[in-house]
Amino acid sequence: MLVKKRGESSFFLILRFHYTKPTSGIIQQTMGYSTDIFSSEPSESFICAICRDVLKGASSLNCGHTFCAGCLVTCRTCSNPSCPNCRKVLTGSHPNYVVRDIIGALEIKCPNSDECNWTGLVKDLERHETTCIYQTISCDVESCGHTCQRKDMRDHATNPSVILSHMELKYGRKLQEMDEKYKRLEDKCKELELKLDGYENRMSTVEGKRRRVIPIDKKDIMLVMTQANCSEQEAIRALQENDNDLVNAIMDLTT
Ligand SMILES: [Zn+2]
Ligand SMILES: [Zn+2]
Ligand SMILES: [Zn+2]
Ligand SMILES: [Zn+2]
Repeated sequence: MLVKKRGESSFFLILRFHYTKPTSGIIQQTMGYSTDIFSSEPSESFICAICRDVLKGASSLNCGHTFCAGCLVTCRTCSNPSCPNCRKVLTGSHPNYVVRDIIGALEIKCPNSDECNWTGLVKDLERHETTCIYQTISCDVESCGHTCQRKDMRDHATNPSVILSHMELKYGRKLQEMDEKYKRLEDKCKELELKLDGYENRMSTVEGKRRRVIPIDKKDIMLVMTQANCSEQEAIRALQENDNDLVNAIMDLTT
């Protein structure tokens, strides 16, 4: 649920809507650090104008305005990328190490501080989040979609019915792929069988013709030769192909 933050315009609220997306494993609500986790209220100059949170991976544009690196990435995908502050055309950006270092040294508590009592520096948060048992993470089985706190993921992964559905997700797709491959092979086999049948039919026709060859009368050959004005060999072939039928043999040679 997206709530309008203090001093935030509708334009930035809409921009922020596009940034609210999960990253692999860790569910991330916004691009910057939530102002709630800082032990003392962060200076307004550290607030990203896009997400209204504290700058994460501070990056400056050529115009001098600074935003979260993640917020700028999404900004570039807009139809007319421009600086959200001064509207100058968005060209290159560079990491602002000074601001990153200052923010990195600020004291914070764990974003899951309702349950977790970790406190530390901003620069150590990422490492903490990879081990914090209260961090909301997503199941690492592709397309399972289940999310829960890290401490509960073991229960999810070892639940017998979940194990079954994980197996289906993991192997179901593979089975389907193999099934499709098998069907394609089967079709190819059928195609080859039909081709083979065709060859066999043609071979038996030729064989039948060969067997049907019967002695040809010398007079017939002569007749064909004169009527069709052809060589002796051509006359014999035409007679053989037409079962010694004179008319058909002559027709074959003359048409
Ligand atoms: Zn931001
Ligand atoms: Zn600007
Ligand atoms: Zn924690
Ligand atoms: Zn799962």
